Amino acid sequence: MTFRLTCPVCGKRDVYEFTYGGPERGPRPAEGDAAERADPGAAAEAHFRWAQFRMNRPDPREEWWYHGAGCGVWFSTWRDPATNREARPGGAETSGNEASGGDSS
Ligand SMILES: [Zn+2]
Repeated sequence: MTFRLTCPVCGKRDVYEFTYGGPERGPRPAEGDAAERADPGAAAEAHFRWAQFRMNRPDPREEWWYHGAGCGVWFSTWRDPATNREARPGGAETSGNEASGGDSS
């Protein structure tokens, strides 16, 4: 199955032009001596959870994509993995974004 993503530079393109970069994880937890002094072990645990844990729910989520076959830009976009359609935060699908049946190459 193919679908289209909207690159902020190039516009709508087939997903095969992109590389998936994973879900948006939020800000990186504090690290270093100050964080370790505040609560030894907690900083390492927080970083481990930030780096390794992934929720695998079929809900719309913000994801990172790389347009390697185009402009070479990393960008984040919202996508519903259940339908492969771009979505807005909260789940509403963006207008005019229909799944492609392989009509582009
Ligand atoms: Zn692009």
